[in-house]
Amino acid sequence: MKIAFIGLGNMGGSMAQNLLKARQEVFGYDLNEKALQHFAESGGVVCSSPQAAAKEADLVITMLPAAKHVRDVYLGEEGVLAVLKAGSLCIDSSTIDPQTIKDIAAIGKTKKISICDAPVSGGTIGAQAGTLTFMVGADEQTFKAVGTVLGFMGKNIVYCGDVGTGQVAKICNNLILGISMTAVAEGMALGVKLGIDPQALAGVINSSSGRCWSSEVCNPWPDICANAPASRGYQDGFATQLMLKDLGLAIEAAGQVKQPILLGGLVQQLYQQLCLQGNASLDFSSIIQQYLPHQQ
Ligand code: NAD
Repeated sequence: MKIAFIGLGNMGGSMAQNLLKARQEVFGYDLNEKALQHFAESGGVVCSSPQAAAKEADLVITMLPAAKHVRDVYLGEEGVLAVLKAGSLCIDSSTIDPQTIKDIAAIGKTKKISICDAPVSGGTIGAQAGTLTFMVGADEQTFKAVGTVLGFMGKNIVYCGDVGTGQVAKICNNLILGISMTAVAEGMALGVKLGIDPQALAGVINSSSGRCWSSEVCNPWPDICANAPASRGYQDGFATQLMLKDLGLAIEAAGQVKQPILLGGLVQQLYQQLCLQGNASLDFSSIIQQYLPHQQ
């Protein structure tokens, strides 16, 4: 298959490499010269604009920072929808609000171009290993058509429903994750202050009803989970600024349907503060520092 890949950053760069390893022909574009150089060294064909890449392709994949970049790449002056042939496919794997991809897909439909959202979980490690989970929002025909390509980059391809529902799944999961991580941080900090050993407390939580991914796999207290970012100075994890972005998306989407998300709003403020304190690039489990300022 001829694939245009736009956005060759931390995630997209590795995803494109996995397509190249699977012997796909990949035409890449990024604003960043270094990302392009890396892509070229892996055997990709570097293009001079999104349109130049899309002109070569039957399928476009985008992996971009935020909604404004996605709009620009699909609909802007150099936008790919202007040059793609009828019958082409597009997959946006960026994490953005559901409405933006619905709007873009509706415009694509008028040109007989099928567009789906397929945000991911698994982080940069999953992107490198080709083990990402894709949450796909698409009509069933498009879902079938993109399955093989997504399989080159991930191991779980989950059908969520119509266009936009992949983003809904992603932002709701991360809303819960932000809240549960903060809850575990609050409970661990309180317990230790009240005099219990952190290992003993984590052991009780993880065999009781407080147990969750944040307590068991990624506990925010150092040295509870050997492989968790908390045990290596909160480095190399899921960055606080990305959690803040995802909580913002959940709040924005909730506002559109007038749905209250009370805890989400509170936790977003805690993450906002953590970023202002200079911790934007630390793993999001560093939220525990809001409870233990001296630990910084
Ligand atoms: P990144 O900043 O490393 O990469 C984005 C790339 O897009 C950059 O190389 C940038 O130069 C490029 N870009 C920006 N505007 C462009 C344009 N108009 N045309 C071409 N290229 C452009 O970000 P990332 O970590 O790869 O994340 C990408 C997306 O995946 C984000 O939406 C993020 O929320 C989501 N995500 C990231 C992770 C993670 O752990 N990093 C995990 C899950 C989801």
